[in-house]
Amino acid sequence: MHCLDCHGQGKTGDAVGVCQSCGAAVCEQHAHLGVRRVRRGPLMGAPLETEVRKVLCSGCTAVQAPVPGTAPV
Ligand SMILES: [Zn+2]
Ligand SMILES: [Zn+2]
Repeated sequence: MHCLDCHGQGKTGDAVGVCQSCGAAVCEQHAHLGVRRVRRGPLMGAPLETEVRKVLCSGCTAVQAPVPGTAPV
């Protein structure tokens, strides 16, 4: 699979990931790694939060300003 952003620039970059917002394949150069928090743990008691990696393409990174404390579904 080739990077969609590279394709738009007339290049072919090997994709290393997939944007979790629009589903475009992105290469290492165009992939923007972020972190989102996932809440897990028992219903009763203290919730545990785990940080998981998320991948966005350049376009989605530009329109999605990170909002602290909210976890996108
Ligand atoms: Zn690329
Ligand atoms: Zn995207």
